[in-house]
Amino acid sequence: MTVKNKLCPGKNQVLLFITGLFLLIEPPFLLKAQSTISGSQATRQVIIFKFDDLRESTQSAFQKAADIITRKECKAGFGIVGNSCEGNGEKETYFNRIKNFNNTGRIEIWAHGYDHFMRGDTLTEFRNMPYQHQYEHFKKTLDLVYEKFGIIMHTFGTPGNKSDSTTNIVINQFPQIEVYLFPFLSDTTNKQLLLKSRVDMEQGVGNINYEYFVKNYTERAGRPYMVLQGHPAMWKEEGFNTLGRIIDFLKTKGVDFMTPYEYCKSLKP
Ligand SMILES: [Zn+2]
Repeated sequence: MTVKNKLCPGKNQVLLFITGLFLLIEPPFLLKAQSTISGSQATRQVIIFKFDDLRESTQSAFQKAADIITRKECKAGFGIVGNSCEGNGEKETYFNRIKNFNNTGRIEIWAHGYDHFMRGDTLTEFRNMPYQHQYEHFKKTLDLVYEKFGIIMHTFGTPGNKSDSTTNIVINQFPQIEVYLFPFLSDTTNKQLLLKSRVDMEQGVGNINYEYFVKNYTERAGRPYMVLQGHPAMWKEEGFNTLGRIIDFLKTKGVDFMTPYEYCKSLKP
C-alpha cells in the first residue's frame, strides 16, 4: 500500500511493461532458474552409477553407455584400469574417448586398479598383497591418468570390490582420493567418504535386469543415496536398452544423478 502510494502511475506502467517484456522474451531462462533451485534441495535421493572395467578392449561398450548417459542428461562414474593408459600413438582412439568422456561433464573417471589382477577371492590386486605392491599400483594408476589426460582422479574402487586393511593405509597416503566405493573393510582411520549403499541392477556380474533392479530399488527406496554397479562390457544390446529404462524409471522417482565425487562435494558445507 505504502509502496503504491509512493509510485506515480507513470512509473507503475513502465515497471509493468518492463516486467511483461522480460517474461515475454526470457521464459526459458526463468524455467531453467526454477529447476536449478529445486534441484539443489538436499532432500532428493542421489543415484550414483558405478561402471567398472574401462580399458582399451571395452571402450566401445563404454561409448554406448556414455551416449545413453549424455542423451538422458544423466551422470555416471567410469572405473578405469590403469595399465590400459600405457603406450601412446597406437591408442589414439581410446585416449580420445577418455578425454571426451571427461569433457562431457557428466562422467567421472575413477581409479579401478592398475592391472585388475584377481585370483579367486583371496588373492587380488588389493587383497593379501604387500603394502609396496598396492602402493605402487595405486600410484601408477593415478599418475598415468594425470599424465595422459590431465585428470586428477578423486574416487577409487578395487577390482572385484576386494581389498584389505593394507589398502586403507595405502589410499590414506593420497589426499586427492576422497571417495572409496564399496570398501570391503573400513575403519575409523579412513580419510575418504565410504560409499556402501549398494543397490544391484545386475543379477550376477554383467547380467543387467530391469525387474530385478526395480524390486531392489523399491525394497530400499528410503535410502538417501544408492550406488548402482554395472559392467557395460558384459551387456548385450538389450542391456543398454535396460540401462535406459532404469534411468527413465529413476526419473519418475525424482532422484538426482551424481558422479561419486560430485556426491562427496554435495555433502560438504
Ligand atoms: Zn573390475
